[in-house]
Amino acid sequence: HSKHACSDTICFYDAGIGASERKRRKLAEALRQALELEQLDLHYQVQKSLTSGAIQGYEALLRWNHPQLGTIPPSEFIPVAEENGLILPLGAWVLRRACQDAAAWEPPYRVAVNVSAIQLMDANLPRLFHQILMETGLPPHRLELELTETALIRDKARSLHIMRQIKALGLGVSLDDFGSGYSSLETLRSFPFDKIKLDRGFVDGIEHDRQSKAIVRAVLALGKSLEIPVLAEGIETEGQMAVLRAEGCDEGQGYFLGRPAPLADLSRDGGPIRKGDRERQHGKAQPA
Ligand code: C2E
Ligand code: MG
Ligand code: MG
Ligand code: MG
Repeated sequence: HSKHACSDTICFYDAGIGASERKRRKLAEALRQALELEQLDLHYQVQKSLTSGAIQGYEALLRWNHPQLGTIPPSEFIPVAEENGLILPLGAWVLRRACQDAAAWEPPYRVAVNVSAIQLMDANLPRLFHQILMETGLPPHRLELELTETALIRDKARSLHIMRQIKALGLGVSLDDFGSGYSSLETLRSFPFDKIKLDRGFVDGIEHDRQSKAIVRAVLALGKSLEIPVLAEGIETEGQMAVLRAEGCDEGQGYFLGRPAPLADLSRDGGPIRKGDRERQHGKAQPA
């Protein structure tokens, strides 16, 4: 066995590329099937007002449970779906399902849906939104879009145009993972956002790290002067929530407030109930 460092490195490197490429192709094929076989599911995570504690709505998070491969996280399969275009039918599936679910919710909470960079490059996206809103009867103000900075910077003019068309339908658009990208401030300046979602990286350090706390304060001040509400992501402790409240943060989301879960589980904890279920619960007759 050769101990030549360089050839070892190259050998290892090549094998690595081969294996990861094989894995991606396998994943892409399995994902295509998953979409057909309805192996996909949405979980919902609560978003609450930090001033009143009231539920504002729920973020839809895609879940894939493969019979052999097990649970595959979106951080793994979304990039694969973006690479091969599968994100378009996948994104349409998510949007339709989320709107169907939310249209049946009592009380009428909002639903937030993540939209990928590739979807936002699709000139048909505004039409798809319109069609799904019509189909499901969900009032547009109850639907929110979550975009990350990377979704916008690929082609600024084009994404701005598509974003405006979608906003014209009457729905809100949030800037997801704010502060984690390369030019968060520039993105905020150039696009008409209705909400800032502060990245959980900053929330994480807010209790013990001066830098994080200073940045959170600055973002909250920025939100105030732009008159855009700020939602803090990834609140995991009571302490973090207390600091965010004291600093005047509008909304929050995170494990401390509620973990993402299937709809049926949320209903049991006072979350959304399907229309009709309430009547059944109260022993009233079902509407015809
Ligand atoms: P995101 O939109 O920023 O969603 C928040 C992520 O943080 C979710 O991970 C959620 O489960 C997780 N999270 C929530 N609260 C906490 C907390 O307190 N602590 C920690 N450590 N994590 C928390 P998830 O579900 O794995 O999704 C990861 C990302 O995948 C999402 O980030 C989003 O960018 C993407 N994604 C998920 N569903 C979809 C979808 O339907 N379409 C698209 N295009 N992307 C999606
Ligand atoms: Mg999101
Ligand atoms: Mg986020
Ligand atoms: Mg994210």
